[in-house]
Amino acid sequence: MATTNVPVQVRGVRKSFGVLEVISGIDVDVAPGEFVVLVGPSGCGKSTLLRMIAGLEDITDGEILISGTVVNTLAPKDRDVAMVFQSYALYPQKTVYENMAFGLRMRKAPATTISERVQRATQMLGLGPVIERLPKQLSGGQRQRVAMGRAMVRAPKVFLFDEPLSNLDAKLRVQMRTEIKARHAALATTTIYVTHDQVEAMTLADRIVVMNAGKIEQVGPPLKLYWNPVNTFVAGFIGSPS
Ligand code: ADP
Ligand code: MG
Repeated sequence: MATTNVPVQVRGVRKSFGVLEVISGIDVDVAPGEFVVLVGPSGCGKSTLLRMIAGLEDITDGEILISGTVVNTLAPKDRDVAMVFQSYALYPQKTVYENMAFGLRMRKAPATTISERVQRATQMLGLGPVIERLPKQLSGGQRQRVAMGRAMVRAPKVFLFDEPLSNLDAKLRVQMRTEIKARHAALATTTIYVTHDQVEAMTLADRIVVMNAGKIEQVGPPLKLYWNPVNTFVAGFIGSPS
C-alpha cells in the first residue's frame, strides 16, 4: 500500500545495464526515523540501489516511493532526499559555506533560511573555524563533514550515504561513526547507509539489509542477523564467528 508516512518504499525494483542485470528484484520499506544499513560484497548493487532512490539512475522495472509518491521519473532535485558520497563531491572553487549553501540557493530558498540552516549545520559539525576555506585546504575528516553538512542543510526526508567514511583513517572513522550516531539521535532523519565495515553496520543500524548479487539475502536488526543468519553467506558478512 502507498502510504505517505513511509519515507521510502522499494517495490520489485530491477536494474539492467545493457544485458547485465545488476538489481534483480528488491523490496524493502524504511520506517520514519529508521537507520537502515546496506551491506554486501563489492559489485552486488548497493550504490546502484542508492542512486536509483536518489534519482541518479533510471529504474528498469518496479517502483520507488518517497512519502507515498512514486518518484521513478522525478528529477533528483525534486526528490526529498540528500546523498553523501564516498568521494565527498565538493565544489573545489567554493568555500565551505558556499558548498553547504549551494543546494538551497539552487532551490531558491530565502536568504535567512540559508544562513540559519548553514549556521546550524556548521555548529553541529564543528566547521566554524574553516567556514571560509576551500575544500583543498581541509583535512579528509573536514571534507566529509562538509559533505554531510551539505546534505543536512537541505533538511531532507531521507539521507542516503554511500560508504561515507571509507576514505578516512581508522581512528577518524571511529570518531565520525560516533558523531553520525549522535546526529541521528538528535535529528532522527530517516537514513539508508552503505558500508562494507561490519562494526559500522552493527553500531549504526536499526536494521541491516544484506545484499548479494542484486538481491536481498536477509533483513533484520543487527543482533538478529548476528545470532540467526539465514545462511552461510549472511553469517560470513555479519554472523557470529563461531
Ligand atoms: P556496489 O556499490 O555494491 O559495489 P554497484 O552498484 O556499484 O555495486 O555495481 C553493481 C554492478 O553494476 C557492478 O557489476 C557494476 O560493475 C555494474 N555497474 C554499475 N554502474 C554501471 C554503469 N553505469 N554501467 C555499467 N555497469 C555498471
Ligand atoms: Mg558502491
